[in-house]
Amino acid sequence: MADPELVDVVVVGLGVGGEEVAGRLAEAGLSVVGVERDLVGGECPYWGCVPSKMMIRAANAIAEARRVDGLAGSAEVRPDWSPVARRIREEATDTWDDTVAVQRFTGKGGRFVRGTARLDGPGRVRVGERVFQARHGIVLGTGTRPSVPPVDGLADTPYWTNRQAIEVEELPESLLVLGGGAIGLELAQVFARFGVRVTVVEALDRVLAVEEPEASEVAAAALRADGVEIHTGVRAERVSHDGQGFTLRGAGGAEFTADRLLVVTGRRAHLDELGLDTVGVDAGRRYLAVDDRLHVTDGIWAVGDVTGEGAFTHVAMYQAGIVVADVLDHARRADAGADPSGTASAAGGAAGSEAGGSTRAVPRADYRALPRVTFTDPEVGAVGLTEHQARERGVNVQVGLARLPSSARGWIHKAGNEGFVKLVADADEGVLIGATSVGPAGGEVLSALVVAVHAAVPLARLRQMIYAYPTFHRAIEDALRDMS
Ligand SMILES: Cc1cc2nc3c(=O)[nH]c(=O)nc-3n(C[C@H](O)[C@H](O)[C@H](O)COP(=O)(O)OP(=O)(O)OC[C@H]3O[C@@H](n4cnc5c(N)ncnc54)[C@H](O)[C@@H]3O)c2cc1C
Repeated sequence: MADPELVDVVVVGLGVGGEEVAGRLAEAGLSVVGVERDLVGGECPYWGCVPSKMMIRAANAIAEARRVDGLAGSAEVRPDWSPVARRIREEATDTWDDTVAVQRFTGKGGRFVRGTARLDGPGRVRVGERVFQARHGIVLGTGTRPSVPPVDGLADTPYWTNRQAIEVEELPESLLVLGGGAIGLELAQVFARFGVRVTVVEALDRVLAVEEPEASEVAAAALRADGVEIHTGVRAERVSHDGQGFTLRGAGGAEFTADRLLVVTGRRAHLDELGLDTVGVDAGRRYLAVDDRLHVTDGIWAVGDVTGEGAFTHVAMYQAGIVVADVLDHARRADAGADPSGTASAAGGAAGSEAGGSTRAVPRADYRALPRVTFTDPEVGAVGLTEHQARERGVNVQVGLARLPSSARGWIHKAGNEGFVKLVADADEGVLIGATSVGPAGGEVLSALVVAVHAAVPLARLRQMIYAYPTFHRAIEDALRDMS
């Protein structure tokens, strides 16, 4: 076995979170090895956020063109998938090649290693025959993979996950979508708008089940208006493929057929692959348990989806900032005298001069005002707690709701104006603890509500604010009025 290579930090998995941590630590002067087995950048730029939003942008253009009738004359739309597939291939993913991303990392001073990494005892990471000894820490940013339910027959079929759906060059005639969560609904609406016959099958009694029931209703109605068939309360029991198409049988005996089957029933971290037992960490959990500085155990941090704190790029980036600050803080203190290796590191000089003391405050993770957006049309934006979650926690809940079609802007907007703003307040504290904004720009309207929840702005102050006329966000004022 080769001698271990001594470095300051090893980052395992260079997805959104890992790449951010590794790049910033390298820029701060630490010697950083970043290990990635697939593509640097991870799921978001190649098979997630970016290409899916390009698909949605295209599908929404089709929907807007179809709204010309009745508003501005007439328009004929002939959807064509080829510009979408080309844009994803050429502009978003470089045909799923990460050369530019690797250079982005090495350009910051990081050392890149392609391969699958495993922990190999305290402070050590193994990649094939190579072993790295990390002086200051190891950061795990290994993400998640699709979680495929144990449905009889499914594993033997050529079903799609998000990856095949994003890479598709020629659309099928029909598509079954197993899973009515955010990703399932976004992709279902896109494909339907391009003429695919889409059926969504969801085991729970409503789509977007983690959001407010009113949001599920609006989203389901919008998809049905696009021609999507939605079946809720149907648990998949058996899937078969006859060489041509798929048949999915539900628990009640209902059968659905289509050319393709897309399975989007959640995501799962694969902790069993990481060698966690070699550092005394339980690999049997669903996600890596972390504290509010993203610590897993001595000398090990985690970042991104693998922590289970919300599978969003903005969570990974937010956590990355905390991990970077904390690792640098540890490195500074170690270099000021407590470094067991006794070897000087660049961290002390490059990252700050508060030798010995943790004078720079390391922020702590706080997910109270975590925003989430489902980019269907209308968009479903939400922050904090739903009404149900707040009641379950025993909060003295106050709720206000305003529908967009009856607001000035919604009425003017006409076609495609479905949506609402719903506010959830803690009546005792007089602050918002959750909010949902559904509408043509639901994700953008959400920003005001995120500020309100994050900063615990008193309801009385929100009521005194001036809301521009006629905007969609004026519905916040209407919802506040509905609350009182
Ligand atoms: C279809 C889809 C749409 C999405 N849309 C949005 C959106 O609109 N907005 C949003 O905020 N989020 C969205 N997401 C979620 C977003 O993509 C993730 O939250 C984000 O990618 C998480 O980043 P991460 O760094 O935690 O993990 P990942 O991006 O999954 O990266 C983890 C990396 O670790 C590597 N890795 C794993 N194990 C090892 C190992 N042992 N050795 C070496 N490398 C390893 C993997 O190859 C991978 O590259 C979407 C996801 C999907 C699937």
